[in-house]
Amino acid sequence: MRRAYKFRVYPTSGQASRLAQCLRDHQRLYNAALEERREAWRMRRASIRYGQQSGQLKDIRGFDPDQARWSFSSQQATLRRLDKAMAAFYRRCKAGQKAGYPRFKALDRWDSVEWPSDGDGCRWKPDMGRVYLQGVGHVKVHAHRPVQGRVKTISAKREGRRWYVVLSCDDVPARPIPATGREVGLDVGVARFATTSDGEVIASPRYTRKSADEMAAAQQSLSRKQRGSANRKRARAKVAEVHRRVRNRRADFHHKTARALVRECDVIALEDLCITNMTRSASGTLEEPGTNVAAKSGLNRSILDAGWGQFMSILAGKAEDAGRRIVLVNPRNTSITCHQCGARCTRPRQDTVICPAHGAMDADVNGARNICARAGLGSGQADAA
Ligand SMILES: [Zn+2]
Repeated sequence: MRRAYKFRVYPTSGQASRLAQCLRDHQRLYNAALEERREAWRMRRASIRYGQQSGQLKDIRGFDPDQARWSFSSQQATLRRLDKAMAAFYRRCKAGQKAGYPRFKALDRWDSVEWPSDGDGCRWKPDMGRVYLQGVGHVKVHAHRPVQGRVKTISAKREGRRWYVVLSCDDVPARPIPATGREVGLDVGVARFATTSDGEVIASPRYTRKSADEMAAAQQSLSRKQRGSANRKRARAKVAEVHRRVRNRRADFHHKTARALVRECDVIALEDLCITNMTRSASGTLEEPGTNVAAKSGLNRSILDAGWGQFMSILAGKAEDAGRRIVLVNPRNTSITCHQCGARCTRPRQDTVICPAHGAMDADVNGARNICARAGLGSGQADAA
């Protein structure tokens, strides 16, 4: 199986400044390549391919000593990143969706460089506690857990003032754990983070909301600072710092929750939710245009707050590692159908559904039991009241 490890790195001041230059030069390369594509499209409706752009790298490195410092392969990876963004753009166009042309990346939005292959312009050196990055040097790494499998790609990432290295590994051996006999459906929600088909409630942490004041204060302070000033730079770093803290708290919560579920359950069934679709209808355009926009923005915010995509991928990774099974089911009507008889329920309140035959039930538990049944798991009705 494949697995990513993220470790904090501690560059010397010289290394930190070279890392920053490395980011900047890759950002410039990306923007220059995007510029070339835009111009070609504007002037002659021509599209430029990845191969044509990477074919110019040698020349670019020949006349630009700044670019020549960095790994050829990491530059190719940056050009491929643009290629992916373009491909996604064309795919959306083709599907008739609203598609924004890929944008130029501002430096503060460009936070990582990838070396696509260990040993090629980069080297993971666990014995030394360091990672070698071409043009940067041997950077000290705090590897808080052992890396297993074969290191495939290495990325350097900036988050605020901190630097991280992300190792993506192949052939990581799974570590199966003993069966527990528990199989659950998991209903993910907004008011509660999640509810299982056997009635366990995992409360929602709401870190973003808690931190909203702090964030608002940091952003307001930033907006009052003069452009280009040192104060503004500091205020910007503060905003990034608050963001980072929220992200970390959320990731911790997701890891902890996923770990517990995987430890306790052999099989976990979930709705196959397409989060992007749920969050993109914020303008209220999909159903009843104009109505419920405010309610939806609130809901969207909570969904983003809860960060489902991240939780699911963490859960899937841990499940695979432990030899547990994840089943995705069609989410259609799971919340409004009675799990005992299949009748359509009414939902007078967010937390309650009423079946004409079986009366009032907890909406989330009912949903979780439907998910369980759809996944073909036994306990969907086992202890139904
Ligand atoms: Zn019923």
